[in-house]
Amino acid sequence: MEVLKNCTLVLPERLGKGYVIIEEGIITEVGFGECSQEGEDLQGAYLVPGYIDVHVHGGGGAGFELADLDSCQRAADFHLKHGTTTMLMGVEGGLDELGKYLPLKKMPINTAGIFLEGPFISPERPGAIDPNFIKEPDPDKLTDFLTKFGSQIKYIAIAPELNQAEELIKIARKFNVVVSAGHTISSIEKLRQATMWGTSCVCHTFNGMPPMHHREPGVVGGALLYDELYTEIITDGIHIHPEIIRLLFKVKPFDKVLAITDSVSLNGMPSGTYGRRMVNGNKITLIDGKTIAGSAHTMDKAIQNMVKWGIDLVSAIRSATYNPAKALGLNDRGRIATGFRADLLKLNNNLEIETIYIQGQRQTI
Ligand SMILES: [Zn+2]
Repeated sequence: MEVLKNCTLVLPERLGKGYVIIEEGIITEVGFGECSQEGEDLQGAYLVPGYIDVHVHGGGGAGFELADLDSCQRAADFHLKHGTTTMLMGVEGGLDELGKYLPLKKMPINTAGIFLEGPFISPERPGAIDPNFIKEPDPDKLTDFLTKFGSQIKYIAIAPELNQAEELIKIARKFNVVVSAGHTISSIEKLRQATMWGTSCVCHTFNGMPPMHHREPGVVGGALLYDELYTEIITDGIHIHPEIIRLLFKVKPFDKVLAITDSVSLNGMPSGTYGRRMVNGNKITLIDGKTIAGSAHTMDKAIQNMVKWGIDLVSAIRSATYNPAKALGLNDRGRIATGFRADLLKLNNNLEIETIYIQGQRQTI
């Protein structure tokens, strides 16, 4: 049994001074006020759930390349140091190519499955995705792929305007894969239909889609308007103006914003050119120097940024913990409450991470 006491607990709807008791990796008691039991005194520090990043491709020079489990481990370790105790491994590619490496024999402890960014997305909005990785809609192929590997695939981005989008989305839902609308030129009407077919999220809202026009509101308009949609948002201050992030928090229900990094393998690497991409400080672009190609962002920084921009701490933390857990149906984590996994972070007043626990185990970082 482990007791963490004298903490400032960040709960889904409020802050509270109190304590947490952990047994066998699970939170067995949360209380307000003093705790009479022996335990670690956090001296008022924040205790928050471990961060959950639904959209991340790599970091520290390593990517979630399914062919290379070492690389997956290094990328997951890089983000663990920044407080991400659960992430999906974000990959791009055709289903035939990806299928060669699946099912994965081993996944890092802080991963919960795979996110497919494509391949059924709009060739008109590829962003930094290699155009060769964008494929014609093929419902039969998706059915075959998910029949074989569905247990490891948790999340997929599909453009709602594609031919056969309805079949693709319904197939994904049949296998319990969560669907986001992304890399898309969809109208708001198509997006509304896609929500009926089972789309529940918007992939990096505002990026990879046309901006909102008052006569053509598109996916951005729908993301803002339809309360049922979870909205991913990249919080590095480069992809999105901070005031747009405040606008999103103002407009969306408090349980529907998902802070993501969209971090790529080059995150943490020195400035320079690497294949199709280049690093310039904390900005990563294609070699044209213009097209943003993923981020050099981390979840600890996401929280610090959002609070600096004026988002309240509870909402900022929630967008990186309980909301993504609910969006993905990970019902055992993301919240400090009895029965939930003891994936926890101790933060100082500057919201920097001091200690990381996964299932109650202190991680060395
Ligand atoms: Zn991405």
